Amino acid sequence: MRLTDAIQARAGEPYHTFEFFPPRTPEGLANLLDRIQRLTSAPLSPPIAVSVTWGAGGSTATRSLELAAEIAKLELARGKLQIILHLTCTNMGKKMVDEALKKCKELGVQNILALRGDPPRKEEYRPAPGPDTSLLGGQDMEGLEPEEEEQEFEFAEDLVRYIDREWKGWFCVGVAGYPTPHVDSDTPESDIHFLAQKVHAGAHFIITQLFYDVDGFVEWVKRVRAAGIDVPIIPGIMPIQNYASFRRLTNLCKCPVPEHVLSDLDSIKADDAAVKRYGIELSTSMINKIIAAGVGISGVHFCTLNLEKSVRRILENLRWTLDHKSDHARQARNRAIEQGH
Ligand code: FAD
Repeated sequence: MRLTDAIQARAGEPYHTFEFFPPRTPEGLANLLDRIQRLTSAPLSPPIAVSVTWGAGGSTATRSLELAAEIAKLELARGKLQIILHLTCTNMGKKMVDEALKKCKELGVQNILALRGDPPRKEEYRPAPGPDTSLLGGQDMEGLEPEEEEQEFEFAEDLVRYIDREWKGWFCVGVAGYPTPHVDSDTPESDIHFLAQKVHAGAHFIITQLFYDVDGFVEWVKRVRAAGIDVPIIPGIMPIQNYASFRRLTNLCKCPVPEHVLSDLDSIKADDAAVKRYGIELSTSMINKIIAAGVGISGVHFCTLNLEKSVRRILENLRWTLDHKSDHARQARNRAIEQGH
């Protein structure tokens, strides 16, 4: 199923997606599959999709496709749980892209998040950010061989156009959006201009880079809509797991952190459990605020970092559980009436 059809089927009711990166070992894979099984089971509302990250240059190609294949095998996946494969195009030849897409079709993976990835800077790639992370441009250099083949793709837009042309609409394609402009963008306007180009090239949905400034995000959504971009936008939410990783990851992806969050964290930063609790409360209140903002956002994309507890608590706090399903349907109807739909 296409992600956009799954979103439409929710008719404004809240939905979520989870992002996972491919573990390096068979034990890691088995543990992650257990977590995915638990996170996609009652009493939690099931996610509409699970996404699998891709190391820039295809460095995790085998493991990413293996993880997608294992998720596709889960009982839950049949017909209900969609898979989104992230696919970067920088330093990836056409052959590698074709192989990945062919494999996706064999697995029934119909959703691709088409990304540029981060190109080599001078002779070196940017340093890897530690654990595989993707919203952050995470890279894993294992097995990476520079491609001899001529570069076919420069920007994500080239990959979107290529998938649309070569696969004749079979894939539902998403692209990345940046509530704080991408570091390579000259201005916020040019950032939105190139986002619009990606949508014109054939993208069907947008998943955003993580952010902690909800007002800034809401303003960005309004500017994106004013630019004529009308595809679903799914905000990227990363629960804070511990202070050091939060600061490292937000620095890496140039995600500004509001002053009030920094000062709240300052007094508890040495206490990992307190930071985690704070992260759960912060994500919960951010999501409530985003949905209440009246800009047509009803779902979120959790950057899980392959961890289970925080997202589980956030879903419980939000009451995104099966026993509250009818409340959500009623609230979605009320929101639609308030917003004049
Ligand atoms: P693009 O859309 O190509 O944009 C890159 C820059 O170029 C922007 O400044 C843009 O404004 C500009 N630009 C775009 N088109 C043009 C054009 N035609 N002419 C001139 N300038 C242009 N990285 C990974 O390696 N693996 C992952 O799995 C991964 N997952 C991600 C998931 C999400 C939700 C997000 C937000 C990011 C993810 N990333 C991942 C990181 C991403 O690869 C980097 O942020 C990368 O630097 C940019 O990718 P992009 O697709 O946004 O690039």
